[in-house]
Amino acid sequence: MSGIFDTRIEFLKGVGPQKAELLNKELNIFTYGDLLQHYPFRYEDRTKFFKIRELTEEQENVQVIARIKSVELVGTGGKKRLVAHVFDETGEMEMTWFKGIQWVQKKLPAGAVYIFFGKPAQYGRKWSIAHPEMEPITAANEKRNHFQPVYSTTEKLRARFLDSKGISKILEQLLPLVYSQIPETLSPEIMHQYQLLGKQEAIRQIHFPTSPELLNRARKRLKFEEFFYLQLRLLMLKVARTEKFRGQALGNTDLLTDFYKNHIPFELTNAQKRVIRESFADMKSGKQMNRLIQGDVGSGKTMVAFICMLIAISSGAQACLMAPTEILANQHYEGLKEYAEMMGLKIALLTGSTKKSDRKVIHTDLLSGELKILIGTHALLEDVVQFRNLGLAIVDEQHRFGVAQRAKLWAKNEEFMPHVLVMTATPIPRTLAMTLYGDLDVSVIDELPAGRKPIQTVHRYDKDRLKVFGFINQEIQKGRQVYIVYPLIEESETLNLKNLMDGYESIARAFPQYHLSIVHGGMKAEDKDLEMQRFVKGQTQIMVATTVIEVGVNVPNASVMIIENAERFGLSQLHQLRGRVGRGAEQSYCVLMSKYELSKDSRIRLETMVRTNDGFEIADVDLRLRGPGDLMGTQQSGVTDLLIADLSKDAPLLTLARDAAQQLLFNDPELARPEHSSILRQVKQQKKTAVNWSRIS
Ligand code: ADP
Ligand code: MG
Repeated sequence: MSGIFDTRIEFLKGVGPQKAELLNKELNIFTYGDLLQHYPFRYEDRTKFFKIRELTEEQENVQVIARIKSVELVGTGGKKRLVAHVFDETGEMEMTWFKGIQWVQKKLPAGAVYIFFGKPAQYGRKWSIAHPEMEPITAANEKRNHFQPVYSTTEKLRARFLDSKGISKILEQLLPLVYSQIPETLSPEIMHQYQLLGKQEAIRQIHFPTSPELLNRARKRLKFEEFFYLQLRLLMLKVARTEKFRGQALGNTDLLTDFYKNHIPFELTNAQKRVIRESFADMKSGKQMNRLIQGDVGSGKTMVAFICMLIAISSGAQACLMAPTEILANQHYEGLKEYAEMMGLKIALLTGSTKKSDRKVIHTDLLSGELKILIGTHALLEDVVQFRNLGLAIVDEQHRFGVAQRAKLWAKNEEFMPHVLVMTATPIPRTLAMTLYGDLDVSVIDELPAGRKPIQTVHRYDKDRLKVFGFINQEIQKGRQVYIVYPLIEESETLNLKNLMDGYESIARAFPQYHLSIVHGGMKAEDKDLEMQRFVKGQTQIMVATTVIEVGVNVPNASVMIIENAERFGLSQLHQLRGRVGRGAEQSYCVLMSKYELSKDSRIRLETMVRTNDGFEIADVDLRLRGPGDLMGTQQSGVTDLLIADLSKDAPLLTLARDAAQQLLFNDPELARPEHSSILRQVKQQKKTAVNWSRIS
């Protein structure tokens, strides 16, 4: 919005320089436009009136119509209060004031009838409301159909009479001034198709609702608009990118056929096959692939990655895979080496701890094209790492990489941008994926390899530790291995280590007959690796670790995951950790240990883990608990710019808005038609103010 909407808020009647400064500081409201978009965060239902006999402790604020019987001052000094005894045809109650007594007292003549509003509480057998809002009864307000907006505000603003009501008052000044100039930002066809209220009416209703129905329609309209522009911009970005970046057409499948015929160790799941088909279609298309593969832990992403590599290599290109940690890069390397060697393809590992002499060889072999597959960590991004022809870049566990780092990968092929596959084991609810990765194509591996038994998860309190130890013993006796994980305490590295070491010692004492591995963030990479390898080879039975093992580590014989202080972990982290087991044919278990007293959220998290293994369901609960703003990557996506729409609650509307944006771009890709001029204007307007959209991928 521009023009009158840029007017500074201090020029509004009833605001002035001092209040304006507070509004700037406390609520980021600088202009008329800002104030207009300071939408209420909820509404109080003032449509209903309660009789005194109907009051209960559970009620929030209620309205009561009552007649004043008498008013008295009770107590002295600091305890002095004003009590109004009031009644209706069902009973009597009290209204009390501890402050502003003199001012209130004048307004309470016996016999007057008021609407009182506030939270009822019961003292003895008497109902009472402290500091009720009150207004004299009139013919009009008794019959009104009223939702009262509640605005967010702050202590400092309240002290200056800018409480929720005060903000409503200044909006009452503002709205008539600007109403007729509020521009319509959606096209008539969209408004018609989705039955949306006009912008002016929506803004009026959101601040001054005249009926619940209209308020609902106003909210729907404004949410739709937010989603619509978010999606429109992402889709436009995607179109722009596909047009700008041609991709190398990689269509040869000779190696693939050979692999399928002679080497593949298991039947692919249908989901794996589908995702490979989708990726292959991109890679041979001549356009650059930008695809996100979401697959729950254990769904077999590594094999999908390898097969895509084969497609690239078949056509004469090279492939690389970048992982976020050295342990993971190692593990990928170990896993893929086996397949690569079957196929006679040269593969190498490049991490921070790769020796200088080995690096030299890698650099030379990459440039000559002899080295077909490079696995590694951030070390891949260094400028000295040059490929002859990088055709496919795969990024594992993408949320740990910055977008800038990924851009560096793209730059590794000057002629064509390499095709990009991003693999993540963090399931993102569809609504969020659409928005965070709106310009990426998304494939989902929504099926686990056959024969997996679902992991059984239980929640145990610390006092049951002996029983849990007994269970661990029993499983190891059966030949299984066990992870015991301790939380990372962010504030203190020392505390972490102590916590872990205490745990380690008590476990060592409890199980003198077994060998233990220990891995934590403070260890040198080669020591970590050594400890990991001992566990992988079955030389140790118990792995005591911090969350460094969270991602990717694969030891099929490990079938028990014990998570200590489980209440300290986030849901997606718990799910990731649990995914370390359940990879073999044996029944696997996850035990969530916690203290007895739990916050409500912790309890929901643990209950969710016990109830389901479904990563998407867990992600949904996580989104509801934390809100999208806390999720990885959302900061830069513009999701946090949403004023009224809520990704976790308004998913159906998001889908509609995306459809609308898609349809619009299909019919008029350049938004060149006159009836779309308002939409084009809005897109341009938002571009100026928005975060850097090109950074999202
Ligand atoms: P993630 O998706 O978590 O990276 P992995 O790729 O590590 O999963 O695969 C987990 C395990 O499942 C590995 O041991 C892998 O060999 C095995 N696996 C993958 N696909 C299949 C399949 N189609 N059938 C049987 N086992 C499979
Ligand atoms: Mg993996």
